[in-house]
Order: sequence, then C-alpha cells, then structure tokens
Amino acid sequence: RSGRSAALRARMEERLLGARFRYLNQQLYTGSSRDAARLFSTDPAAFHLYHRGFERQVRRWPERPVQRIVRYLRRRPASLVVADFGCGDCTLAASVKNQVHCFDLVALSPRVTVCDMAKVPLAAESVDVAVFCLALMGTNLQEILGEANRVLKLGGTLMVAEVASRFEDTHAFLKAMMQLGFKTVSKDLSSSYFYVLEFAKTGPARPGAAPGLRLRPCLYKRR
Ligand code: SAH
Repeated sequence: RSGRSAALRARMEERLLGARFRYLNQQLYTGSSRDAARLFSTDPAAFHLYHRGFERQVRRWPERPVQRIVRYLRRRPASLVVADFGCGDCTLAASVKNQVHCFDLVALSPRVTVCDMAKVPLAAESVDVAVFCLALMGTNLQEILGEANRVLKLGGTLMVAEVASRFEDTHAFLKAMMQLGFKTVSKDLSSSYFYVLEFAKTGPARPGAAPGLRLRPCLYKRR
C-alpha cells in the first residue's frame, strides 16, 4: 500500500514539475531578456527547476547541440577567445581549451558571470567567437544579437544553434542577420531537431527594424 502511494506521489510531483517547467519556458520565450533576468533573480529556485526540465528535454534528442559547437571549436585555434551567451551548466567551457566567458542569469557553475545577455561585461571587439546555443530566448532578439556584434572583433564568428521548428522563414532570418552585421558562412539545416548557423561579423549592426528577425517560441508539449 505505502509503495503504491509513494509511486503515486512521485508521479504527481513529476507532473507538477513538468507543468512548472513548461510555464517557465513559455515565459522565457514570450518576454524580453530583462523580464527573464527579473524572473530568475527574484526566484533562483525557478531557474534550477527550469534547468532540470531543459536537461530532460535535450536528453531525448539524438545529439546535444552544444556538442556541435564543441566540435567546431576544436577544429579552430585554441587561442580564440569565446563568449557563451546563456551558457547553462558551462558544458562548452568545460569541453574546450579556449578561454570562454560564460554568461547566464543564475550561476550553475563558478565559471558563470551572472548578467542579462543583452548587456555583458565585456569590452567592444574583444572576442573571436560568440555562441548562442539554444539561448536566443528573449523577444528582444535584435538587442541581444547587437550585443554579440558589439563584443565581437571584425571578422569574428557568431555560432547559433537553435531549435529547427523556431524558424518560420530561414531566408528572411538570414537576410535580417546581414542587417545586423553578420554574413552567413555556413548553415547546417540537416537535423530535424536543431539548426547550426555560422556567421562572420562584417561590421557594426545597421540601425533600423529588421523585420525578418523572428523566431517562434519553443513550446514543449505535455508528455
Ligand atoms: N547553452 C546551454 C544552455 C541552453 S538553455 C546548452 O546548450 O546546454 C538556455 C540558457 O539561456 C539558460 O541557461 C537560460 O538561463 C539562459 N538565458 C535565457 N535568457 C537569458 C538572458 N536574458 N541572459 C542570460 N542568459 C539567459
């Protein structure tokens, strides 16, 4: 009897966690990066819950997108300075020899600098590679990518790995990226789970609206 009620309780807790994760996830994708910063700084427990849910989701995928970024960096000189926007558990920094600046809203690891990715404490043109791995969550995409442009050296690399279903119009997205000062170097659209896009910084972001710069929120279904 007690075995059965324990199992029932575990199942209910699991459901509740799942529901809270989906709710937090939806908030992150439908608000600005500032809203996300406010949410997690007032409720760090929510962040940890979010991360458990995130881990459970990506474990179902055939490959973790961050592993693709790791492979990419290992092919390039270890002297390149990297900035990881929305670093999560710092898998990237832990897997490469490069100096990696890790930014997130809450520190899951001592390597993390806690900040909103729309405003990172780095000097202009100080990094060679900027990474957003499943991290382009805020609705203020233009501002976030503008910040990446600011910290990148001219000719520096921007790597974006994002959930494939978030792209409504990839062509329009890449065109908008041109306006933000990023030309497409390579795109891997072969996975049905996530795309990997490589850009080079061509110059500063041009002012004005970039209407093609839109990504659908990534909402998870109840399972
Ligand atoms: N890049 C990691 C984690 C992806 S989950 C990986 O691939 O494993 C997305 C991460 O972005 C989360 O850790 C979340 O807290 C972070 N994030 C979301 N909005 C942010 C913001 N405004 N500023 C900094 N980090 C943010």
